[in-house]
Amino acid sequence: MPNTLHVDYELKTHDETVKIVEEAMASARQVIPQGAVADYIPELGKADPEKLGICIYPLQGDMISLGDCNERFTMQSISKVFSLCIALELLGAEKLFSKVGAEPSGEAFNSLVELDLNSNKPYNPLINSGAIAVAGMLIEEVSFHDMLRFTRELCDDADIQLNKTVYESEMKTCSRNRAIAYLLESKNIIESDVEDALRFYTKMCSLDVTAESLARFANRLANDGVGNISGKRYLSSETVRIVKTLMLTCGMYDGSGTYAVEVGIPTKSGVGGGLLAVSDKRAGIGVFGPSLDEKGNSIAGCRLLREIADKLRLSLFYDTDLLAAAKIEYSLNGFQRHRQEETAKSND
Ligand code: GLN
Repeated sequence: MPNTLHVDYELKTHDETVKIVEEAMASARQVIPQGAVADYIPELGKADPEKLGICIYPLQGDMISLGDCNERFTMQSISKVFSLCIALELLGAEKLFSKVGAEPSGEAFNSLVELDLNSNKPYNPLINSGAIAVAGMLIEEVSFHDMLRFTRELCDDADIQLNKTVYESEMKTCSRNRAIAYLLESKNIIESDVEDALRFYTKMCSLDVTAESLARFANRLANDGVGNISGKRYLSSETVRIVKTLMLTCGMYDGSGTYAVEVGIPTKSGVGGGLLAVSDKRAGIGVFGPSLDEKGNSIAGCRLLREIADKLRLSLFYDTDLLAAAKIEYSLNGFQRHRQEETAKSND
């Protein structure tokens, strides 16, 4: 079995890694009762909060699939990553960022306050206002059918379908997103048909995926947009760089900063309970856990990622090069020694 991921400056085997992830799952389950499933979309309220699954697909080594990793759920806001990738490929960064910003908003995912009062464009493409603006641009370029085809290809999962029940449930209760869409039209950010843009956005949110299909997509993002086995390029390097940067800074809404400190893996959440996590140059990760925290992020999923990020050194800011990691520790010790010497001198 090939070595896979780094732990404490050592390479762990596949079996050792599985054990670490199983232990992290057991401890993450403990926080499930502290969260709740989303019920503002009535159909999502029917999800079983106890479900938890993770799939880790390393760039080298075998896939690890545990728990409910083949359960279908709607990707909800994770679709914003797919739409952003496709929009960057089709429209280019310049056109896209003329209508949507690239700043964290510090507001809830479905907020329209900042957009109305302080800004002429949505803060970023990973909150509702930004993604609805992207949908307004995409509908002029591509059909929903083609979006579904691209999504299946990026996830290597031909079974991804539109979940009509969830889609219809959300369309009946989406007054807030409708308000955002019309506000965007009033600011000339949406120049296409508003209702079409809203339907397109909601359909993308209602695609049924699994933790495993998300891990396959994340693996390609972690590998610069290239399939690690086929060597096929799915997305340009530039698109992938922009998307991962925005996932790190804005992917967890107003929880993004704390999450970046605690976990340090570019991640996008969805209120269906999914997490798409890209441990750059190491592994793609998909998680499913429908019990959510107050910000709308999977409560057990975030805890699970925090634990494995720590134990498997998956944070973006840990070096993948063991020697480099050892050198960094050495110079930090040097810095502490220097401070002790300075303190000793000033106490003389
Ligand atoms: N479809 C959901 C909405 O627009 C997606 C939100 C989310 O996953 N955070 O409200």
